[in-house]
Amino acid sequence: MKILFASSEAVPLIKTGGLGDVSGSLPPALHSLGHDVRLILPAYSDAVARISDLEPLGTLEVAGAPSRIRLLGGLLADSTVPVYLVEAPGLFDRPGNPYVDLDGRDWWDNPLRFAVFDRAVVEVALGHSALGWRPDVVHTNDWQTGLVSPLLADYAERPATLFTIHNMAYQGSFDRAIFDALGLPAHWWSVQGLEFYGKFSFLKGGIAKSDIVSTVSPTYAREIRQPHLGYGLQGVLNHRADRLYGILNGIDYHLWDPASDPTIPQHFSAEEFHLKRRNKTRLQQAFGLEERADGMLFGHIGRLVEQKGIDLILAVLPELMAEPDTQLAILGAGDKRLEAAAREASARYPGRVACRIAYDEALSHLVEAGSVCFLMPSRFEPCGLNQLFSLRYGTVPVVHRTGGLADTVIDAGPAQVADHTATGFVFDETTPAGLWGAIGRAIEYWRRPGVWWEQLAVNGMRQDYSWAASARRYEELYEVARGLAAAD
Ligand code: ADP
Repeated sequence: MKILFASSEAVPLIKTGGLGDVSGSLPPALHSLGHDVRLILPAYSDAVARISDLEPLGTLEVAGAPSRIRLLGGLLADSTVPVYLVEAPGLFDRPGNPYVDLDGRDWWDNPLRFAVFDRAVVEVALGHSALGWRPDVVHTNDWQTGLVSPLLADYAERPATLFTIHNMAYQGSFDRAIFDALGLPAHWWSVQGLEFYGKFSFLKGGIAKSDIVSTVSPTYAREIRQPHLGYGLQGVLNHRADRLYGILNGIDYHLWDPASDPTIPQHFSAEEFHLKRRNKTRLQQAFGLEERADGMLFGHIGRLVEQKGIDLILAVLPELMAEPDTQLAILGAGDKRLEAAAREASARYPGRVACRIAYDEALSHLVEAGSVCFLMPSRFEPCGLNQLFSLRYGTVPVVHRTGGLADTVIDAGPAQVADHTATGFVFDETTPAGLWGAIGRAIEYWRRPGVWWEQLAVNGMRQDYSWAASARRYEELYEVARGLAAAD
């Protein structure tokens, strides 16, 4: 199959979260299955700098673009997957984050930036580029690519479309004036189209007009059909329920392998689990925590936003610190108020709680390798990757029963402990008491004499969350989408 994979971020070119991980690993996994998959991204300065031998591949006719649009081509690092970058002078050649300026505010012209990108994707999808290539399927992701399927829907001869929702909380909703300024088709302004409570939504466009809609875990696919996680789009999602699927993300098993990870001081594996300990010492040193070989070191990594429940972690600190052997290492950046709260907590418990307010890829590997337990009390979590990294690194996850966390972590209840299927601790109530209940169980388990803890951690290490199985599921969905497109 010829697949065009459109995304607003992809590892190792540019990343702000899980979407970047998926876009950097799913295309190579599909390529390994024998498909002709090509990735298309905006030509952010960082992405341009990270592809060697980038070549101009001609210009594209893009309606409403304020400047000439060029397509640049190269290869995704360490793979033979072609990458196309959409170059639009003035729109993407900016420093830092793809979505926000240096003060953390959305770029003022985001609707224009991503409308131009989407129209460029459509030109490539219809074979109107100098590539001499036309995909069978276009796979788009999140609101930034939400206009692609609606734009393609107006063409009789079009590729099949699949739209993946990585997070319903980000919708790309804008005012009528912007809709008009972008010159979008007037008939889109309707309840069946992109209109959404007096505004218009890129995300709704992807959901309403794609042949298939998917999201990144089976549980999240059910949750977003309910009001509390549907953000007003539950009606559209229920209307399209027969086209809505949930496929778990995988993780890159080469990048995240405790037996060969070049960023961690001591390699280890399920067979040699005892070696993991040395990473704890290094993590304690890196974070300025007391060096305690027997410390029950908890780790947390994530965007510091309310979704991730960092406030719940900080709220249970009095109880957690009342235990004699506990420590906590936090790595994250985001909301200034939550960053300040994390800093205050580490000042209050010197040597036992430490935070690094940063986005640091290498340090995130050390936190995963060196922690005993990983805290992920997300209020909602479409899939979540850190619990998967944690399982792979024998770092037992404590998670809220939601989305992909519910689908990937098996609670250590009595039956699951007895039959050796347990991999972590799961709680239901997103309150400090709910989280503390699960942490308390983890602490009790850790202190049990014998190999209980090791068994739990090793169970997690033996799970398979590599991309191979998920890539096969996408392959099947592409076929379903092609059938639907042909019948359209
Ligand atoms: P989301 O996409 O909502 O941010 P995910 O768990 O799906 O959450 O993916 C987050 C990704 O970003 C993971 O790879 C995680 O390790 C990484 N990440 C988040 N914050 C940081 C940070 N401060 N430093 C390094 N990596 C981070």
